[in-house]
Amino acid sequence: MVEIGNVEVRDVFKIERIGAHSHIRGLGLKENLEVIDVADGLVGQHAARRAAGVVVKMIKEGRIAGRAVLIAGPPGSGKTAIAMGISKAIGQDTPFVSITASEVYSVDLAKTEALMQAFRKAIGIRIKEETEVLEGEVVMVEIDRPASGLGPKVGKLTLKTTDMEAIYDLGSKMAENVIKEKVTAGDVIQIDKGSGRINKVGRSIAKTHDYDAMGPQMKFVACPDGEIQKRIENVNTISLHDIDVINSRTHGYLAVFSGDTGEIKGEVREQINKKVLEWREENKAQIVPGVLFIDEAHMLDLECFSFLNRAIEADLSPILILATNKGFVQIRGTTLKSAHGIPFDLLDRALIVRTHPYTENDQREILKIRAMEESVELEDTALEILVKITSTTSLRYGMQLISTADVLRQRRKGEKVSVEDLKKVYKAFYDVKRAQNYLKQHEDLFITDLNQQI
Ligand code: ADP
Ligand code: ADP
Repeated sequence: MVEIGNVEVRDVFKIERIGAHSHIRGLGLKENLEVIDVADGLVGQHAARRAAGVVVKMIKEGRIAGRAVLIAGPPGSGKTAIAMGISKAIGQDTPFVSITASEVYSVDLAKTEALMQAFRKAIGIRIKEETEVLEGEVVMVEIDRPASGLGPKVGKLTLKTTDMEAIYDLGSKMAENVIKEKVTAGDVIQIDKGSGRINKVGRSIAKTHDYDAMGPQMKFVACPDGEIQKRIENVNTISLHDIDVINSRTHGYLAVFSGDTGEIKGEVREQINKKVLEWREENKAQIVPGVLFIDEAHMLDLECFSFLNRAIEADLSPILILATNKGFVQIRGTTLKSAHGIPFDLLDRALIVRTHPYTENDQREILKIRAMEESVELEDTALEILVKITSTTSLRYGMQLISTADVLRQRRKGEKVSVEDLKKVYKAFYDVKRAQNYLKQHEDLFITDLNQQI
């Protein structure tokens, strides 16, 4: 803490939100799909990871159309983790959309519409666009403000390359842009001739010396050569769903940000599909099928399953990955039972991947990776206690204790999380089993039957 006058300034810690799967960077496989036991943040689960590797190969070769992948295994056995690994392994630019089956049931949207939107979010369209730009180093900017201070501003901008120099008149809109972007002499800029948008590429290397005080984010670049006016190619990837929303006149493009898209008409989608396929023919666009991951797939009902059956056969379809922890259960919306609560015809098209419960050793490795990811250090004995706790509770619960115990460590200003810290948080936070036991013992304190309330 620092005292400035009588104002108290606290040290501000950087707040980082670390997602439950942030440690996963890929599938941890060698080129020949051999599994490396601990790699890319994944541990054990060899058979499933190798199978996932085959799926990635097929995706990359474009051979998975009309199929789905089902990952089946007990809770906390890494189903989501492996789906994340798949998405990381197929590449940065590939869309990965993850939903839980129960999300499709809402009052605002029909369930098949919700599924359709999820499908189309998982398909990327890479659009190539040639634009004309002015690119050069700024030699001088002059903005003329009207004497009254009101009314439009105009000005002049001088740009140069190593080969030429030119002066441009700035209309009022461009003058505003130049002010807004704080363009000064020595900046290397790109101006989109169509939209007037200014993109600061960096500072000219020639100006390095007069800007010692620049922040570390400042990029120094060479003064461009050749013509000032040139054509450049831009590649943008947007999802098919975004194109739907932008083109559905009832909502307007702002709906992309609010997420409040409502139902999109079938005709709009048909037209867009036609257009996108045309662009592909003309080499203007590339279609990038991504991954749609649906967790708790047994929560889908018969209507949803028939939708999925049809949708994966369509021309434009992402790779569908379903996950479930249910065995032989009823298919929602029917009286029939089926493996994983999924109808036979869909199961039959799916590549089924199994995950198995973890050994104590695997759990130890996963906990170690998580501790590292959260920058938490544990005493050796504390780690062993944590492994024991995890084996009688669950992996997720064990992971929760890492961050909560670390809060206690910080409070007592210790270096590493101790057995004592762990004991305290274990007592403070209930795992599922203890919570259930507590409920059973104290049933009379809780309302179990909603009818009693009335
Ligand atoms: P499931 O989807 O099967 O219920 P998760 O994938 O959510 O289980 O696993 C629970 C937690 O354990 C997650 O934080 C996940 O990232 C982590 N995890 C599970 N399996 C592994 C693994 N093999 N390697 C590394 N982390 C794992
Ligand atoms: P419920 O569990 O039914 O939501 P509440 O948490 O609202 O009950 O508790 C009822 C009242 O008792 C509230 O006014 C709450 O502030 C108070 N209360 C309950 N538990 C405690 C506690 N441990 N310490 C202080 N006040 C409490």
